[in-house]
Amino acid sequence: MMTGCAVAQVTCRSCKSQGNHPCKNHGKAPELAREQLDAGTIHCSVTATCKTCAGALGTDCKLCDNEAATTELERRRQLVAEWRQARKTAVDDVVDQKRKTPALHLRTPHCELTCTLKPLTVDRKKLDTHALMHLYGQRIESLRAMFVEQFELEDKDLPATLQVFLFESQKDHALMSPRATGIGSNGNRIKLMGVPAVLCMYRDRRDAKDDAALHRQVVHHVTHLLLGNMQPSHWLGNRKHGWVDAGVAHWFEDRITQRCANFCYDEILLKPGAGFKGGKWRPPVRKLVTTKKAISFAELSTRNTDQLSFEEHAMAFAYVDFLLTVHGGAKFRDFVRRLKKGDTSREGLKAIYGLSPLTVDPKFHAWVRAEYPPR
Ligand SMILES: [Zn+2]
Ligand SMILES: [Zn+2]
Ligand SMILES: [Zn+2]
Ligand SMILES: [Zn+2]
Repeated sequence: MMTGCAVAQVTCRSCKSQGNHPCKNHGKAPELAREQLDAGTIHCSVTATCKTCAGALGTDCKLCDNEAATTELERRRQLVAEWRQARKTAVDDVVDQKRKTPALHLRTPHCELTCTLKPLTVDRKKLDTHALMHLYGQRIESLRAMFVEQFELEDKDLPATLQVFLFESQKDHALMSPRATGIGSNGNRIKLMGVPAVLCMYRDRRDAKDDAALHRQVVHHVTHLLLGNMQPSHWLGNRKHGWVDAGVAHWFEDRITQRCANFCYDEILLKPGAGFKGGKWRPPVRKLVTTKKAISFAELSTRNTDQLSFEEHAMAFAYVDFLLTVHGGAKFRDFVRRLKKGDTSREGLKAIYGLSPLTVDPKFHAWVRAEYPPR
């Protein structure tokens, strides 16, 4: 038998020797349990207002003395307070001062999100502003992760932080967008290409009727931001590479939401809510190809984004779909990099794919005939 070799240990049954307790205010209410489940959350302005823990999500154990745990709680409280103050200066002091409820803020690993959306139904459940903010935070993170995976990027190839503002009211959008992006606020959706990467938008009910439509818009516009800001950071839409700029945004819309419905207002003059073939573009592209009405690559690759017609948007999507599906994401990434460094589409196509504007079309057409459904 061994005796006399016990190690002195402070044990506290109350906190299981952790030195702190999870803040009770976030344990029971379903929307607050999310804070602990959602590992992506770094800060949330709703928990930051908690009277018990001030957003640290824990409270000091009164029954034991654990200096390290106490210091850690204080550090967390301090971080939340500093972040909250920064968001107040950057956003709360800028948006409509008469608003009845405060704008909510969320910090996730790669996104600083502000949300004032009114409740929306998602999967037959009504989600309030706070729940919607967490959902959109997750959606933006997962889009970014998908973008990184698709193009075989490293994390440092993309901006560390996307700034996204999802407003309910146009007034907040109009006040915030000049400040956040440094450009005017005539459009519904403002993207700033360059650093920092900013998307400021409000929910225009004419074209964002429900959560699915709004989600599709966010996917489309955040994809533009990611592509433009992918190193080296340059917008391709005004360098005759409109088909790449729009095509990639449509491609992610289709992949995540199975439909393409967004044409930036500066891309195409149209009534809000107008679309092309119900957003299902493979059959109409196939028809353009089989009836020999499809625009050639040589011609498509002379257009800026704002010069593309509806049909050309669909063709841009299809060329991107072809290159990504047949040749993979890494090659497309290298192709985009060459374009950003000044190559023409012709030069980039030759260097990366060994194709020319004339030889790409027969291959693309054969692939469309084989892969795209007639209806
Ligand atoms: Zn304790
Ligand atoms: Zn929250
Ligand atoms: Zn709390
Ligand atoms: Zn677009």
